Amino acid sequence: LKIAESDITFKRKPVIIIVVGMAGSGKTTFLHRLVCHTLSSNIRGYVLNLDPAVTTLPFGANIDIRDTVRYKEVMKEYNLGPNGGILTSLNLFATKFDEVISVIERRADQLDYVLVDTPGQIEIFTWSASGAIITEAFASTFPTVIAYVVDTPRSANPVTFMSNMLYACSILYKTRLPLVLVFNKVDVAKHEFALEWMEDFEAFQAAIETDSSYTSTLTRSLSLVLDEFYKNLKSVGVSAVSGTGMEAFFSAIEASAEEYMENY
Ligand code: GDP
Ligand code: MG
Repeated sequence: LKIAESDITFKRKPVIIIVVGMAGSGKTTFLHRLVCHTLSSNIRGYVLNLDPAVTTLPFGANIDIRDTVRYKEVMKEYNLGPNGGILTSLNLFATKFDEVISVIERRADQLDYVLVDTPGQIEIFTWSASGAIITEAFASTFPTVIAYVVDTPRSANPVTFMSNMLYACSILYKTRLPLVLVFNKVDVAKHEFALEWMEDFEAFQAAIETDSSYTSTLTRSLSLVLDEFYKNLKSVGVSAVSGTGMEAFFSAIEASAEEYMENY
């Protein structure tokens, strides 16, 4: 049996890595680190910046939303505040996203990864129509993986940790794409506590009970939900500043891309 070329809808490469995470978690710094790593390891990367409001990027982007939409002018023209301006800029860019996909398709043979930076404020990408359109456009063409960046030192509090994980969980269910938890800033705080909480439900219960008087049945139910969520993902500890964890990150991405190929 011969399969016609046109029947092959998904390409194996490049793998799209969409970097999301709370404001200040270190997405842009992490992306810069990824770019440095690809350059020094002979990995062929392509970089896409989707943050219209960033003033200086530490890396060179191959495709930059700022070349197409001027965020400040969008704010003036539509009489919007900063968040409305970013959202509207992303909407305008999303209407032309098929062009971005074509550009990447044309280069597909020469690329291993496409690294995508998203706006600082997480919900602008994860809870907007344009974020969904962009994610869907990628995922219907290439293996696509979400890298969810966590500010490890800020997540040492069990209640904060739980909120952050619930947010990641909502992204997993919304996108239905493989998700890698990237515990960033391990140069400041190691992520072992997080691994322990994720592996041992009772350790997390104990932490949350000593940390707060918040020992409701809701917390218990939520940690059961999360227990199920943790089984569906991979996690790595990295430092965007020192560069630790890059190999582990790319292994997790490769495994997630395999998962994508099997399920989508
Ligand atoms: P974004 O809003 O998610 O894009 O976050 P940025 O990349 O702009 O980083 C926010 C802040 O966290 C900056 O001050 C970074 O220098 C800092 N940061 C990012 N990654 C690391 C890291 O691995 N270690 C430390 N110590 N700081 C980091
Ligand atoms: Mg950023």
